[in-house]
Amino acid sequence: MTTIQVTNPATGEIIHTLTRSEEAEVVEKVDRAKEAYTSWKKLSAHERSALLMKWAAMIRTNRQELGELITLENGKPLAEALGEVDYAVSYIDWYAEEAKRVYGRTVPAHVQNKRIVVTKEPIGVVAAITPWNFPAAMMTRKAAPALAAGCTFIVKPAEETPLTTIRLIELAHKAGIPEDAVQYVLGDAPMVGDVFTSHPAIRKITFTGSTPIGKLLMQKCADTVKHATMELGGHAPIIVAEDANLDLAVQQTVMAKFRNAGQTCVSPNRLIVHENVVEAFTEKLVERVRKLKMGNGLEADVDLGPIINKKGFDKIKQQIEEATSKGAEVLCGNQYDFDDEKGYYFVEPTVLTNVDLSSQIMHEETFGPVIPITTFESFDEAIQIANDTPYGLATYFFTESYKTGLYFSENLQYGIVGWNDGAPSGAHIPFGGMKESGIGREGGVEGIEPYLETKYISIGL
Ligand code: ADP
Repeated sequence: MTTIQVTNPATGEIIHTLTRSEEAEVVEKVDRAKEAYTSWKKLSAHERSALLMKWAAMIRTNRQELGELITLENGKPLAEALGEVDYAVSYIDWYAEEAKRVYGRTVPAHVQNKRIVVTKEPIGVVAAITPWNFPAAMMTRKAAPALAAGCTFIVKPAEETPLTTIRLIELAHKAGIPEDAVQYVLGDAPMVGDVFTSHPAIRKITFTGSTPIGKLLMQKCADTVKHATMELGGHAPIIVAEDANLDLAVQQTVMAKFRNAGQTCVSPNRLIVHENVVEAFTEKLVERVRKLKMGNGLEADVDLGPIINKKGFDKIKQQIEEATSKGAEVLCGNQYDFDDEKGYYFVEPTVLTNVDLSSQIMHEETFGPVIPITTFESFDEAIQIANDTPYGLATYFFTESYKTGLYFSENLQYGIVGWNDGAPSGAHIPFGGMKESGIGREGGVEGIEPYLETKYISIGL
């Protein structure tokens, strides 16, 4: 039996020790989810909706405690953590309502003696694997539509941040959702991945995490032809056009980039700024970035917390070093506060300019508080640079011209486009990526579809 030590990334202190599930326990929990499915799917949509609403209410009652738990295990500032709790609940609110709007249809028959009915059914048992960067929201964004649709749900949270998921599930049970309808497992990731992708009862895998693991899970899903929703990596560009409102562009860039210390999949990874405004933009940006306060997220006025672990820290540091070795200039940041023995890692918010397009940071996801700047002359050049990536999750651009804005919107190969907007997400919005950033959408009316099967009934008269 092995254990998981959950640490506070701001201090390296162990905050909780948990036991990893053995394979037999994971299988048993999936079997229980299968049993529970029979009764959960029979509840009326209105009954499931009422239970989801109770769950949402319980989370709201425990908002502060959950926010502090997120900060403790993930490191983000408390204000952001409380914002995440609200965001997480908004998915439950939304899908409690959408549960009641899972409509089928009738189709005019091609002959007189037939009637054609199309219905929607829950897909079956759903297995989820979630990341550490939004431990509450990534869980509810999957659990809420699954439960609303009539599926039972089992989740493996990231080992860095399992406590939030455990607490959310306790609250779901307290709200009256049956214990076996929503469960978690804490196993070794590849083992759990193998059980989830091979167990015949599981009909759908929903994953948020890195592109390589997403690809691996998709391959494994092939053997039992499971449905899969994949929310994978990104490499978001921000384009700042010559006519952009620079103050707005700077304010939104800082907000989008440094949230969760840059550890979000929609985090802007590179700035592509028109050469005529790059100087003015960069000056304003650096002035603002210098004011950001780094520290323990539980302390007041902290803008950004630690990096989740050494692996993440090393990658960020290495990307900065590689970019500077290719001529990039450090305008601010590139300072570190870390202690290998204690196990905490902080990176000062960093702005790099004159970054060579061949640098790793211009192509690989950084997942840290670093933003490199390059320039463009023509719109087509900006679009070419922005699209030159296998990723296609989020992109942002700033322009006051509707023609430029439409041209960018229509030519950028991304699932989420923020036009003069650095925060384009919400429960009512279809979130998801193109290309190697994923398959499917979460949120919005689209977000419940992946948990439903279409059945067609041909009735002969
Ligand atoms: P990151 O590098 O940001 O942690 P991962 O894709 O490795 O991103 O992790 C996202 C989630 O996927 C976590 O819950 C992690 O435990 C899980 N995971 C990692 N490796 C595997 C695997 N081989 N099979 C199934 N899940 C995995």
